[in-house]
Amino acid sequence: MDIGGLETVVANSAYVAARGDVDGGGGGGGRDRKMRARLKLPHVLRLEEVRARVVQTHPEPAEPALPSFQRVCTLEPIGRQLFRQFLETHNEFRPAGQLIQACEDMDMSEESEKPKRAQAILSAHMDDKNPSSFCAFLSAAAVEAARARGSFDETLAETAEYLRSRSLAEYAESPRYLRYLQFKWLEMQPMGEEWFSDFRVLGKGGFGEVCACQAKATGKLYANKKLNKKRLKKRGGYEGAIVEKVILEKVHSRFIVSLSYAFQSKQELCLVMTIMNGGDLRFHIYDVDDANQGFSEARTLFYSAQIVCGLEHLHQHRIVYRDLKPENVLLDDMGHVRLSDLGLAIELKEGQDKTKGYAGTPGFMAPELLKGEPYDYSVDYFTLGVTIFEMIQAKGPFRYRGEKVENKEVKRRILEDGATYSDRFSAACRDTCEALLAKDPATRLGFRDGSCNELKKHGFFATINWGRLQAGLLEPPFVPDSKTVYAKDVNEVGAFSSVRGVTIVEDDKNFYDSFSTGSIPIPWQEEMIETGVFGELNLWPADGSLPDDLCK
Ligand code: ADP
Ligand code: MG
Ligand code: MG
Repeated sequence: MDIGGLETVVANSAYVAARGDVDGGGGGGGRDRKMRARLKLPHVLRLEEVRARVVQTHPEPAEPALPSFQRVCTLEPIGRQLFRQFLETHNEFRPAGQLIQACEDMDMSEESEKPKRAQAILSAHMDDKNPSSFCAFLSAAAVEAARARGSFDETLAETAEYLRSRSLAEYAESPRYLRYLQFKWLEMQPMGEEWFSDFRVLGKGGFGEVCACQAKATGKLYANKKLNKKRLKKRGGYEGAIVEKVILEKVHSRFIVSLSYAFQSKQELCLVMTIMNGGDLRFHIYDVDDANQGFSEARTLFYSAQIVCGLEHLHQHRIVYRDLKPENVLLDDMGHVRLSDLGLAIELKEGQDKTKGYAGTPGFMAPELLKGEPYDYSVDYFTLGVTIFEMIQAKGPFRYRGEKVENKEVKRRILEDGATYSDRFSAACRDTCEALLAKDPATRLGFRDGSCNELKKHGFFATINWGRLQAGLLEPPFVPDSKTVYAKDVNEVGAFSSVRGVTIVEDDKNFYDSFSTGSIPIPWQEEMIETGVFGELNLWPADGSLPDDLCK
């Protein structure tokens, strides 16, 4: 074996072993004791500053002296768990807490289970014959909607509003909220590269390598996208770097890679993100089985549905992705997919409904974009159509893989030609592709009135249980092999040339500081919960008394 091959074997085995520790470890796997010991909750007397800061960054719109209910009680995972615990310990609010939980459980249950669950909710919470769990605050209209139409949207909205107006002030004075502030304090501590150990290179980006890495304190594996400071400066990469950071920080979806930390080392800016070990869809379409390229319709449908969830989330946050293609859709260990590489994405400012600019990949870009017209989220549904077509056919509708064809001709085909469907497409799948590949964005299937609900019921998407998909409960059609590294050999990734003639000055340092904001709250909290650290730290005496660290 040559040296390069040997290097890859060594790098792969360290990395595969770390994955094994974490997957099968059940808590504690791969942790560094000393770093874990640094995750220690501060005493209650040290929380005043963080208490003020939480309210400042996310005030409740109607009552700016209180923290945002939406943020602190629902969006942040540790905040949400502690708020639910608070409701559980409170006689007046307990029924409301149980009602929310029951609705969530129903949403995630099998289709055949749902009517039974709905019935149980109606009888426990909407019937005054059960006074201990009855939710008297629900309006007659909400109860009627649940009873007659099986729609619990109003129920959930009214319950949230009831809890916001009635319980938030009391919650903000409770011990569980102090516990929340203890975790926020920990989350806001300065952090840097000493919290991670690096494993092998996973891929190469424009400004540096992407490495597998492990958070030492919890054992969680991540991908670390490194951006070399000098290379960024030399090639004018600051703007793109901050756009990617800001957008990734804003979105939280199991269908988009999430950003957990942003920090700097001496030479680099680092984005620590969800690690996707299973390779990209382009690789799986073409390179796994040469004689049998492309996916079955069932597999295509699964990935497409997950992509739709990712797009819907981006569009709800006013972000146009612009670069959807199989290569940018990555698989995780279980076979679920996420959108990645948001470097070309753009956010529409409040009040702005269109953007302009040539951005994307030839063969994928929508007609309105190619014509130089203003466009919006519609372009992402055209690229979705191209992507679905390619998954089924192992060939783009407007361009073969590796076909030597000028961009001008690809553009002409997209503007003028229809796609040709083989018998690999069912009628339902073809209908959906056609509706997504509509040349006119006004008639194209897509994002309407804040959601993709119309698309989710269309053609071959109609058979998906969207609630279970959204919760990550649908079983993936293909599970990547846990011992395989779906990346190039380390020596094939390619080195970077050194950067000369760049001096870093004060302004540059200010930019690096503004980039390096540390832990991102929601993913950081997920890491603490997932790795068991939250459970180890969130202890309460069985007799209902206050824990020592919360006694003033
Ligand atoms: P750039 O924007 O500079 O092109 P990318 O975000 O595309 O950088 O990352 C470069 C490469 O690194 C990708 O093609 C992929 O091979 C690998 N990579 C990127 N993100 C991840 C991730 N989250 N998990 C695993 N590998 C990744
Ligand atoms: Mg890339
Ligand atoms: Mg990029």
